[in-house]
Amino acid sequence: MKRTFLRVVVVLFVSSAMFAQSLSLGDSRIMGFTSSGAADQRALEAKFDSGLNAGNLREWMKRLSLRPHHVGSKYDKENAEFIASLYKSWGFDTQIERFDVLFPTPKTRLVEMTAPEKFTMKLVEPPVTGDESSKQQKEQLPTYNAYSVDGDVTGPVVYVNYGRPEDFETLERNGIDLKGKIALSRYGGAWRGIKPKVAAEHGMIACIIYSDPRDDGYFQGDVYPKGAYRNENGVQRGSVMDMPLYPGDPLTKNVGATKDAKRLDRRNAETLTKIPVLPVSYSDAQPLLRNLDGAVVPPAWRGALPLTYHFGGSSPTVHLKLAFNWDIKPIYDVIAKLKGSERPDEWIIRGNHHDAWVNGADDPISGQVAMLEEARNIGMLAKSGWKPKRTIVYCSWDGEEEGLLGSTEWVEAHADELTRKAAVYINTDSNGRGFLGIGGSHTLEKFANEVSRGVADPETKMSVWQRSRAQQFVNGNAEERKELAERQDLRIDALGSGSDFTPFLQHLGIASMNIGFGGEDGGGSYHSIYDSFEHYTRFGDPNFQYGVTLAMVCGHSVLRLANADTLPFEFSNFADTIGTYVKEVTKLTDTMREETNELNKSIADGSLKAVQDPTKTFVMPTPKGDVPKLDFEPLHRALKRLKESAADYQTASAGRIAPAGVQKQLDEILINTERSLTDNAGLPRRDWFRHQIYAPGFYTGYGVKTLPGVREAIEQRNWNEASEQIRVVSRTLENFADEIDRAAKIY
Ligand SMILES: [Zn+2]
Repeated sequence: MKRTFLRVVVVLFVSSAMFAQSLSLGDSRIMGFTSSGAADQRALEAKFDSGLNAGNLREWMKRLSLRPHHVGSKYDKENAEFIASLYKSWGFDTQIERFDVLFPTPKTRLVEMTAPEKFTMKLVEPPVTGDESSKQQKEQLPTYNAYSVDGDVTGPVVYVNYGRPEDFETLERNGIDLKGKIALSRYGGAWRGIKPKVAAEHGMIACIIYSDPRDDGYFQGDVYPKGAYRNENGVQRGSVMDMPLYPGDPLTKNVGATKDAKRLDRRNAETLTKIPVLPVSYSDAQPLLRNLDGAVVPPAWRGALPLTYHFGGSSPTVHLKLAFNWDIKPIYDVIAKLKGSERPDEWIIRGNHHDAWVNGADDPISGQVAMLEEARNIGMLAKSGWKPKRTIVYCSWDGEEEGLLGSTEWVEAHADELTRKAAVYINTDSNGRGFLGIGGSHTLEKFANEVSRGVADPETKMSVWQRSRAQQFVNGNAEERKELAERQDLRIDALGSGSDFTPFLQHLGIASMNIGFGGEDGGGSYHSIYDSFEHYTRFGDPNFQYGVTLAMVCGHSVLRLANADTLPFEFSNFADTIGTYVKEVTKLTDTMREETNELNKSIADGSLKAVQDPTKTFVMPTPKGDVPKLDFEPLHRALKRLKESAADYQTASAGRIAPAGVQKQLDEILINTERSLTDNAGLPRRDWFRHQIYAPGFYTGYGVKTLPGVREAIEQRNWNEASEQIRVVSRTLENFADEIDRAAKIY
């Protein structure tokens, strides 16, 4: 479900020095292999690559996106059965695992402006010529946000920009009363579920979310069907479940949603919204925006519709009525295993969801078909006599769009076994054209760099690693360019949420990666009926060459992880990354202290008041409490210890492979390192999230918060909790260092 709108900024000069670092496709070493093992592995990967066929991706995409295949639909089940039959035919031990989850669908959707004009929203995406599946109106899910509560409310509208906490601060400063009002928010800026959450916290009674053409429409490019971008009737469906609290079935937190699972009463499910929410198109939103009264909004709040944007507050008045069928529906995860020959109890897990909001050619089928082609070729290698050392598990998830339902329920149902066996989880989702993006556990950063150095980019023929590096170099600032010149590896992103890696990484502490290409494909079909085979083959990756390249990056990753003598974990990049996080949270408090002092001073000496236009409303903020000096010493000590342990491991393992007799024991310790980054008590106020280094932000949704316990306590100005969390994270890092020390001793 994740989609980031990458905008490529072109800088005019490019130094030729950036190409100096040569393609290391021919490098003889591979992490975790002896040199002769590495040669065999490269031969195996070459064989794997030669079997990849873009025609299969095209054919399967056509088949899987032929009809709407959301949870509960006939075609969702048919797709699961089709995918299972493929895995079976390739020699995988395949099962469909069913779970039963709460899945609301709309019964009533009504939004009408009652004053100053009468207007009723259409709430319909019409078919467009040249797009066959857009005509399947009877099978399409209506436009809505899943897990909104029912509601029937009437009230004046307030425009809240992106609906983030900082937007509500601006509203407060401008003296806008929010109690009993309906929020009109534009998509973007933060994950959609944050908007109704923050609106409800401010006493608002409903939330309408629309796609403004500035962020998602004609301001970005020609609209569909002429171009790729969202047209005036396009609507972004999506989940508004409070996923930063816990994802998965709202009724079965922490346990698999099997038939007999104990279920919460729906009224006690914490992750449903507090107020009704509905997404709309910009043609439906425009009459409301045109009738907003009050002051003109700040420049950064203005969209690209041909009107002046106001805050509103007393006009217009809107009546919104929503009612849902609160059904329990089956979901179908397809799980396909290829048993390891030497270490069957160490699992390399690979997943991509198969369900969509409508036809979902891009999201998720573009990633699904690349994964299937990867699995087919691994199956072929197995049929020709090769066997992986470790067990490989391919997973096609259902119910991702509503809140990572399929992956979360599977992880919760198999938590004990996964805690013992899962070595690494590799996720993909929508795939586009352009630049390689990798997020994940930084213990796998070096591994991710090594794999991507060995795969060629189809457009430029340089390695995908080099092309990513070129992009970072061209778009980076002076400091980033300096680091690129000095640092051997590219940094991978930390993972927040937005796809199926979340339960693996953040609930159980399984080292994970999320991989995809993007930046050149036009986005505008996201979660609409226009996310079709036609759209994808015109504007996505028309020849599926990036689909094949994704299969290479992920296929090589799976094959190396499955075959290596010892798992290719590495800790110096992790320690270096933690160092940057520690620096960030330290700086965050210093910056907050300076800003607080300056704000309080400008209130006290009257300068803030002096710069306001007296004809406009301005509510003077109350002075903020002082920001104390936090004691970061435990964190610095733990970091120092971590860096020493990482260096010791590097010295111990440099240029050698652990003796055969102790490799399994070493693997067990390495697998356990990520587990040691979790704490069973979980994060404050959200115990499902146990990882102490990476979490989706409580007020950002998909956006990551690193060292979340510490960082969010500081952001919320909860100083006691911040001090306590510094101790928790420091202890976590020390435990992690203990594990590395154990691993180093094995050599
Ligand atoms: Zn998706």
